[in-house]
Amino acid sequence: MGYDGETWETMSELGEKPNAMETHDASGESRLQATLAETNRRLNARLQELNTIYTVGKSVTATLDAGEVLERITVAAVNLTRADEGFLLLKEGDRLFVRAVKAWASELPERLHQKTNDTVAWQVIRSGRPVLLNRETRIATGSLAQTLLYVPLQVPEVGTMGVLAVVNRQNETPFTENQLFTLSSLADFAAIALENARLFAQREAERSRLSAILENVAEAIVVIDEAHRLWLWSATAAQAFGLTEEARGRPAADYLTNAEIQDLFSQADQDGSVLHAEITLDDRRVYNAQLSTINGVGRVVIMQEITHLKKMDRLKTEFVSTVSHDLRSPLTTVQGYIALLDRAGSLNQMQADFVDKALTSLHHITALISDLLDVGRIEAGYDLEMQPVCMDEIVLEVIEAAKVSAAEADIDLSVCLSQPPLQVWGNMRRLRQVLENLVGNAIKYNSAPGKVEVRAWRNEAHIMITVRDTGIGIPAEEQARIFERFYRVNTVDTEGIQGTGLGLAIVKSVIEKHNGRVWVESTLGIGSTFAFLLPLYQPPT
Ligand code: ATP
Ligand code: MG
Repeated sequence: MGYDGETWETMSELGEKPNAMETHDASGESRLQATLAETNRRLNARLQELNTIYTVGKSVTATLDAGEVLERITVAAVNLTRADEGFLLLKEGDRLFVRAVKAWASELPERLHQKTNDTVAWQVIRSGRPVLLNRETRIATGSLAQTLLYVPLQVPEVGTMGVLAVVNRQNETPFTENQLFTLSSLADFAAIALENARLFAQREAERSRLSAILENVAEAIVVIDEAHRLWLWSATAAQAFGLTEEARGRPAADYLTNAEIQDLFSQADQDGSVLHAEITLDDRRVYNAQLSTINGVGRVVIMQEITHLKKMDRLKTEFVSTVSHDLRSPLTTVQGYIALLDRAGSLNQMQADFVDKALTSLHHITALISDLLDVGRIEAGYDLEMQPVCMDEIVLEVIEAAKVSAAEADIDLSVCLSQPPLQVWGNMRRLRQVLENLVGNAIKYNSAPGKVEVRAWRNEAHIMITVRDTGIGIPAEEQARIFERFYRVNTVDTEGIQGTGLGLAIVKSVIEKHNGRVWVESTLGIGSTFAFLLPLYQPPT
């Protein structure tokens, strides 16, 4: 930044005029005294100059009002160079604006924002070098100058932003090299002031954008700096934790006193990854919290309120288990008596048909109820005795059992097993249930004539099983939800297909209890492939 003293453009000679005192014809002593007095005067003047530059420099760091600083700099430029007039021009795009003007005669500088044109200024901006002229020139303020000195305002990476100028309109005294240095220092201060103001405005804009976001997001967001002090928070967080302005900069632990949050923080101390936790506040509100550690920033906790979801889930579970339990016993009795009807006397054909229909419906209801009870039991981890299980055998059993319903629906059922035995550590009954549900769906949601293919193979330390069908497919936006309890796709294609939406919920629970993973790939109208992975069981050698 500033003038390096090496290159500049001039059309006059530099240097001070010879001093009248030195040419005075006097005795040696009085000459010496005169020289001393002159040196003293110059030193004082220089000291004053430095003092002014120092004061301007201080005001640059003390005020963020760039306009005020530019005015002071222009005044200092005029005073220090004893010029008739001074002004500061700034470039905005391809236009020049007068930002401050100080005329020698007037007390107050003017702060302006006037468009102007000044060929000399453009020359300085383009070349980045000062210009000194000792001839009549028309300048930015519209007047004629006898002599002038223009220096560039330079900012690293931005380039020349403008010009600081001093001119003599009345007298023809040329400007000196000393004055060029003084003006260059002032121009440097002006450039710093402008850069400061720009950075400040940018920071303010970012801050107000950020606070607008934090005011309006529904999530409770708290940002903590690396020294664990509260830094930023959203309006929702302020309400949840009672955070007021005075909490800013105070230790987070003093305000986020909830034990579960404190736990989350202590886990984060050991582990830099993203952490999740469910947090219940004193007022019983439940939040799903996520804590991320960001290098150089600190920690960010984002919490979404899930109180209503938790309540719904609890109600649903309670309802399901109560209803299923209370329905099961009377139904078993009804089923028993209906089955015994023919013992009470022979039934005619019509009566026997009715009994059959009643038993089929009863069978559906009992199946539903046992599914409901199953979901609860699997999730609670009941009835899950584990042992080595051969998945290839289970696949064959399930395919065998499904043959009849597949044939009835005109579906070709095939199986492809590789390298048996495919052993996993698991619960045989539940794993069979998984395959029954997947194969059952593949037949149920197929279109005749269709195909269902089950494949099972070993994939490194896992057993991979896929059930592929050529059925109706599942819309992309529904694929993530079909594993939820009671979720069923509701389209023209699924209309009239019976089900409760529990099959895949059971599949997912069972697979997860076996430390596996299940997913689906599907194209609407083409078919679906359900796949799951289970850890391979390696018998101890
Ligand atoms: P349930 O299995 O409890 O009798 P269901 O079959 O409706 O009822 P899920 O097995 O959980 O319930 O399946 C959920 C939903 O996913 C189904 O309603 C269906 O819309 C969709 N679906 C599942 N498997 C397939 C498939 N192979 N092809 C197309 N859609 C499927
Ligand atoms: Mg199903």
